[in-house]
Amino acid sequence: CPWGAPSTTSISCSLADVMSEQLAKELQLEEENAAFPEVVAAAEGPFITGENIDTSSDLMLAQMLQMEFDREYDAQLRREEKKINGDSKVSISFENYRKVHPYDSDSSEDEVDWQDTRHDPYRADKPSTTPRRGFIGKGKDITTKHDEVVCGRKNTARMENFAPEFQVGDGIGMDLKLSNQVFNALKQHAYSEERRSARLHEKKEHSTAEKAVDPKTRLLLYKMVNSGMLETITGCISTGKESVVFHAYGGNSATEDKVIPPECAIKVFKTTLNEFKNRDKYIKDDYRFKDRFSKLNPRKIIRMWAEKEMHNLTRMQNAGIPCPQVVTLKKHVLVMSFIGQDQVPAPKLKDVTLSSEDMKKAYYQILNMMQQLYRECNLVHADLSEYNMLWHDGKVWLIDVSQSVEPTHPHGLQFLFRDCRNVSQFFQKGGVAEALNERELFNAVSGLSITADNEVDFQAEIEALEKINEDHVQNHGKKLSTFSSDGDPPIYDE
Ligand code: ADP
Ligand code: MN
Repeated sequence: CPWGAPSTTSISCSLADVMSEQLAKELQLEEENAAFPEVVAAAEGPFITGENIDTSSDLMLAQMLQMEFDREYDAQLRREEKKINGDSKVSISFENYRKVHPYDSDSSEDEVDWQDTRHDPYRADKPSTTPRRGFIGKGKDITTKHDEVVCGRKNTARMENFAPEFQVGDGIGMDLKLSNQVFNALKQHAYSEERRSARLHEKKEHSTAEKAVDPKTRLLLYKMVNSGMLETITGCISTGKESVVFHAYGGNSATEDKVIPPECAIKVFKTTLNEFKNRDKYIKDDYRFKDRFSKLNPRKIIRMWAEKEMHNLTRMQNAGIPCPQVVTLKKHVLVMSFIGQDQVPAPKLKDVTLSSEDMKKAYYQILNMMQQLYRECNLVHADLSEYNMLWHDGKVWLIDVSQSVEPTHPHGLQFLFRDCRNVSQFFQKGGVAEALNERELFNAVSGLSITADNEVDFQAEIEALEKINEDHVQNHGKKLSTFSSDGDPPIYDE
């Protein structure tokens, strides 16, 4: 080492050192203040105090820590290299696996390495470096760090420290001398490029949040895996307008009494609100949520959808209706058992071709489930169709019940009628001769006996019933317990 043994100079990555060494003080203060004030702020020391909290220096700190980590990693590599090579005549090198290449570093010691490791035969002249105190030599041979040649070469070497995406050309390998001015201009460009790409990246994050999950949701999912509740999240099963559904392998439960199913479905309710606007009518008038609705912010309303789905699934589970079993609910993320096997979700009824026998079996099963749902769970599915019924294990499973309401919901009967129309059309088209028409099905499920023989009159009667209920709410402050029916409905069976 030309300037004596390094005394206490441990590997330094303090930004203060970087800056003082890097540029002439006057130039630096002047130009840097204008160009990147956050760097100057960080130069005051890695610890930010008081009100001058500038998060851009967090990035610097992170990078410094990363650098330190990389150095340790490289040191480990060197040890491994040594161990493997031993005294062998033929040696292998891990050079390509190193994170920090010697010339990446800003410390004086490493710059000496830089000369030695490059072995560049075309280099006219070894760029010498200056020690931390800023000068070498004695008397009139003194060379300071402000020396044009030294400084220029150092600047060239430092270009390598610019963001990796920033193309600095192939000047690095040459004996190129960059003036401080040119270097600063380049550096400023590199910084703004970096910021620009960060902005672009951020934009991308936000746009994917609509298709996949936003960072907050991702954190929730990570936590589920971290806690061991889920083993792995394997991928996305479905991307709908209002939710994204993922498949996961179940892990272990923290509590003994709850068993996590081997395969789970994670339904993430989308936090982008537009899609939910048209769903207001389902929840706004649902008396169970009525008091809460007006007080809630949009984010909480989304959570309420998830909560609703959970409660509804639990009711169905208790009635013995085949449906996903609730595992857990965290904010707008609902984890339930997976209907399907080995990551393959059970097909929707609309996608599966059933034998006529299975078709008939499915029909009677659904008729039964609709009755159970109405009477035992006091629910109307409100989005029942071949899209929300899965065929698994030789039977139909009901899913997607976040919008389900109680029959006395102001539009509960209309929703039921729509469900009946979907079901009866599907099975009539599917060749089930026994399938009731939508009006018969409605009466069979609800136990009401609306006699109208055409759709218009039928719907008018439904609306009249709903109005009676509304009036009752107005006058008595509470809803009807059930709609009056003339005795027990007929039982339909195979
Ligand atoms: P959306 O409101 O987006 O329609 P769904 O609850 O219907 O939400 O889920 C969308 C799709 O994800 C379903 O059509 C089904 O294919 C799949 N899916 C949802 N839940 C499960 C589950 N528990 N098991 C298997 N697949 C599921
Ligand atoms: Mn659905």
